[in-house]
Amino acid sequence: MSVVALPAREAAAPVTRPGPPLWLLLELTYRCPLHCVFCYNPTDFARVGAELKTDDWIRVLHEARALGAVQLGLSGGEPLARDDLEPIVAEAHSLGFYINLITSGVGLTEARIAALKAAGLDHIQLSFQDSTRAMNDFLSSTRTFELKSKVAALIKKYDYPMVLNVVLHRLNIDHVAEILAMAESMGAEYVELANTQYYGWAWLNRAQLMPSRNTECWPARRTPRPCSRPSREYRRRDRC
Ligand code: SF4
Repeated sequence: MSVVALPAREAAAPVTRPGPPLWLLLELTYRCPLHCVFCYNPTDFARVGAELKTDDWIRVLHEARALGAVQLGLSGGEPLARDDLEPIVAEAHSLGFYINLITSGVGLTEARIAALKAAGLDHIQLSFQDSTRAMNDFLSSTRTFELKSKVAALIKKYDYPMVLNVVLHRLNIDHVAEILAMAESMGAEYVELANTQYYGWAWLNRAQLMPSRNTECWPARRTPRPCSRPSREYRRRDRC
């Protein structure tokens, strides 16, 4: 084993201040047409105030760029629920951001994907809940597997780099090989196997989501165990 001595100048270097924030992530809205049982967004969304307006987000973009941010994530909720997404992307592009849309795919029509391309969107991250239609649709409480598959094809048709994102937990952790095969067949450049973030609905449903050596997993258990579902009042407000 060899030991490399640091040059005296490096060894004695003073502690430096952190660099500028390079990534800016905007949670544009908490609204979402899906109802994922592992959603990390607030469960008391009905009491959250109004979303920031377009001009507020544009101001945030300018301030972040002045601080040194170079990469932008547009997230939510479902960012496509905002009808001002295109002007926000156009402004970010004019400021020189590399822009990533983080989406469930619901609402990403061909007209919208073309408009976002024209506005300067660089990259799309598309989420699936699982590699199987049954589990994807159960976990999101929507029939969206086919729609997401079509959106994946559209993303490639418009020549975007694509990240395929799947949040892992007890109900799909045995499907990683199938998830990777699905991502490959869809032409994804990257795969994100994300840990469940135990906030919001995921915290509420943690007993059903936390993997355990002693727990029988899907598909061995034929009927998925029910998770807590949001109230009707919550649904009325366009959220889980
Ligand atoms: S986790 Fe599901 S419900 Fe929550 S914002 Fe993402 S797609 Fe929507």
